[in-house]
This record gives sequence, C-alpha cells and structure tokens, in this order.
Amino acid sequence: MDQKNSQEAVQRRARSEAVLRADGVPINQYLPVIETEDETKRRSKAEISQRALCVLLAAVKGEGLEQPVVERIPVCDSCNNPMSFVAQLEQGPDWTTAMNFGGGGCAYVYRCTCRTHQAKMLWQC
Ligand SMILES: [Zn+2]
Repeated sequence: MDQKNSQEAVQRRARSEAVLRADGVPINQYLPVIETEDETKRRSKAEISQRALCVLLAAVKGEGLEQPVVERIPVCDSCNNPMSFVAQLEQGPDWTTAMNFGGGGCAYVYRCTCRTHQAKMLWQC
C-alpha cells in the first residue's frame, strides 16, 4: 500500500465513520483501514446475490433449518447460481375454489435474478 492509497483508505474510513456516527452507530476506533478502492475487486450482481444467498442459508441453517431442505434449493438452469426464495404456497380450505396440492403439503417458489429470470416451484408433501 503506497502513501497515496493509504491516504485514500484513511479518508474513506473517515467518511464511513461520519455516516455511522450520524446514524448513531457505535464505532470501534481500533479497527484497521481496509484495502483501497484500487485494491478491491468489484463483484458482479450474480456474485453478490450468490454470496447473499450463501449467508442467508448459513443463517437459516443456524436457526435450525434441516440439511435436506437446504440442499433442495434449486439452481438456475441458465447461470447455475442458487435461486432466491420468493414464496411459500399452501393449499386453501375449500378444494373447489382454492389451490389444491392433492390433500396436503406446500410449494416453494424460487426465481433467479440473472437475465433469464427463470423460476422454479418445488412441492413438498
Ligand atoms: Zn440464472
């Protein structure tokens, strides 16, 4: 890290801390500065969404979601990234007017944020 980059990193941290202070967020003043803008790697939307989904999966698994459910998250046929959960559907109380899954279970709807916008639905009895 050269002197110019170090100044940039220090200035960026000062700007970030000013924003946090304005919002009343406590700051650990002993944390080091992180890499400069030149040293960072910009992630694509797909990489960011995949990372967010991985963090979400780790969180829900930590909350007790069973491994077989975690492993059933569908993958997009176009980009191969895990798809995002959209909705859980359950059958209605009246089979003549409501969604009917054959007597029980529920369905999970997923979609991908890539350009294809693919969607999938899993049905679990
Ligand atoms: Zn996709």
